[in-house]
Amino acid sequence: MTQSRNVGFIGLGSMGSAMAPRLLENGHAVIAYDVNPSARAAFAAAGGLAGDSVEEVGNRADMVFTSLPSPQIVRQVAAELAGTRVGIVVDLSTIGSRASAEAAGLLAQHGRSFADAPVSGGRAGALAGKLTLMLAAPAAVQEEVAPLLSHFGKVIPVGMQPGQAQTMKLINNIMSVVALAATSEGMAMGVKAGLDPHVMLDVLNMSSGQNSATRDKFPRAVVPRTFDFGFATGLSLKDVRLCLDEAQALGVPMMLGNLAKTMLDITAAQFGADADFTMMARVVEQWAGVEIG
Ligand code: NAD
Repeated sequence: MTQSRNVGFIGLGSMGSAMAPRLLENGHAVIAYDVNPSARAAFAAAGGLAGDSVEEVGNRADMVFTSLPSPQIVRQVAAELAGTRVGIVVDLSTIGSRASAEAAGLLAQHGRSFADAPVSGGRAGALAGKLTLMLAAPAAVQEEVAPLLSHFGKVIPVGMQPGQAQTMKLINNIMSVVALAATSEGMAMGVKAGLDPHVMLDVLNMSSGQNSATRDKFPRAVVPRTFDFGFATGLSLKDVRLCLDEAQALGVPMMLGNLAKTMLDITAAQFGADADFTMMARVVEQWAGVEIG
């Protein structure tokens, strides 16, 4: 068990509401804030302390975690935290390397430390404490935050500069959307040809076509028709846009990444940005005139 600490948590959405309670379960005192009052009430019901503002969290906790939906919001919350007594801000969001470096710079001007720590594994991984956490921060900061991050899952240091973990995370996410698109096409084809989708997944998961969509998204959210994997199309689009921007700045062409973005654009146009990104399979189903599952 790690030493008990006073920590803060800002952003109790799909991920934060699963991660913050793990800090409580591991004996830390946690004060949390979300702009959504019902998210704050749910955290209080789980035994945590609900704060009234970002400022209050920053003044009462020496380490604050953030799990927020966009680069703009992380920058804004980092600016608010910079004026408080907080020592270290640990950002778990996916915001791209530029925003992460900017948040770090903003906090550094006020003598505060920053750790770039995006996560992979979805809400199910967050609930189970089985996320993958990519960590980029100076060595001393890594040493201080890693024991707390380990309550969320496996911590993999990727560099000393905030922003490096973001780059790693964006690469992972664009590859996962490409896999979702390719799996939607393959599964629609097989079912239209008369194959059983469960049998298809059994074969794929023991063959070279296996990927995160065949192992998890299709068995859990597409074949059972629940489309509740837990990741919104709009959030996925944000990640893919950030990745394509960074790739372009580096001079790396991403043709498949651009196609994956188009598939997400169509999914969002048809079902809304809040629809689960596994709804991409429904788009392909409509084109193919078939239902997978
Ligand atoms: P979400 O939209 O469900 O949650 C974000 C929360 O932040 C909401 O509850 C919202 O009310 C709150 N919020 C917004 N502005 C705020 C502010 N100014 N102050 C305080 N709270 C504010 O998003 P999520 O799915 O939990 O994702 C959070 C981050 O984690 C995103 O950057 C996302 O890309 C990343 N992520 C998500 C997943 C996933 O599977 N959902 C997986 C890995 C990484």
